[in-house]
Amino acid sequence: MISPTPVPSSLALQQDVSLADLSTLKVGGTASWFTQVYDLQQFQQTRIWAEKQGLPIFYMGEGSNVLFSDEGFPGLIVQNCITGIEPYGEEVEIGAGQNLIEAIRRLNRLKLSGMERLYGIPGTVAGALVGNAGAYGQQIGDSVVEVSIWSNHQVQVLPARDLDLRYRYSRFQRQRDWFILNCRLRLQKSSEPLQDISDEILTKRLVKYPQGLKCPGSFFKNINLDEISETALESIPEDFIMFGKIPAGKLLEAVGANGVRRGDAQFADYHGNLIVNLGRATSQDILTLADEYAGRVWEHFRIRLEPEILIVDDGEWAHLRGGDE
Ligand SMILES: Cc1cc2nc3c(=O)[nH]c(=O)nc-3n(C[C@H](O)[C@H](O)[C@H](O)COP(=O)(O)OP(=O)(O)OC[C@H]3O[C@@H](n4cnc5c(N)ncnc54)[C@H](O)[C@@H]3O)c2cc1C
Repeated sequence: MISPTPVPSSLALQQDVSLADLSTLKVGGTASWFTQVYDLQQFQQTRIWAEKQGLPIFYMGEGSNVLFSDEGFPGLIVQNCITGIEPYGEEVEIGAGQNLIEAIRRLNRLKLSGMERLYGIPGTVAGALVGNAGAYGQQIGDSVVEVSIWSNHQVQVLPARDLDLRYRYSRFQRQRDWFILNCRLRLQKSSEPLQDISDEILTKRLVKYPQGLKCPGSFFKNINLDEISETALESIPEDFIMFGKIPAGKLLEAVGANGVRRGDAQFADYHGNLIVNLGRATSQDILTLADEYAGRVWEHFRIRLEPEILIVDDGEWAHLRGGDE
């Protein structure tokens, strides 16, 4: 029998780590292995070790947009902790494991505008790039110049035009083997009180997301009008349409989702697109509830809801069914 490669002492690998503790939704079984990486060298050593073991690998930031499975993850979870912010005039280079809120605070102090409205979105810069995070009329993709990634044992620098950055989508969602190392953003010098703008937005956000809420933010993506059939569009009340999109929350509210509970998972009573863990929810509770109401939206409106969050299942992307045809 081949004996497993010993863990090099330079790698701070932990065994049997609770995934619930690693995500804002506080759901999930156990990861066989977990580690945090602080620089490229540590990442490469970790990756090589995991490859020798034949382990599936999942990269994460702060776990604010993921649903881990109750079955756990039979591989290695790598948390990106590569931080740092280096300004170069109107451009900044940011370590992808940098917390987004801290990064924006720094950009505001540097009087660089373009990201101030994203203030309050939890997670890392890498996580924001993967989902092209956005709020209040800004999205990170609008400021990206280039992103450095690790792929196939080498570092590559990709310009924004190669990243397919769209509404809550990027090429990173297809390239699951790319590890995001850092990015360069281009911003605009501004004399506006940027931190005041950010603070005002944060106050509004705290009404929807009170501190300590166990959730992954919005559960489903809003719907672009050009993605649905004309027949489906005809059944949509005019006041549902906002800024060229149909908010998933409006559709869910219309089919009675608000306040509905399955196990310890519940749609917030004040917002249709917010599923919260009341304390002991399982990933099955969350998926049952989400699937049931995505199905109702399909039956009622013939619109398929697509999860905005990432459902981690054996290291693969998994998608919820939006009801059967
Ligand atoms: C209360 C709350 C409010 C939210 N509000 C918003 C909002 O207004 N707008 C919005 O867009 N989102 C929002 N979100 C969702 C979430 O905060 C963002 O998607 C965030 O950018 C995710 O960052 P993260 O570091 O937590 O990523 P994670 O959840 O850890 O990971 C998300 C994805 O990125 C991948 N990933 C992470 N790091 C790397 C890396 N280094 N290399 C390769 N892949 C990587 C993961 O594999 C996963 O697929 C909210 C979430 C919460 C909990």
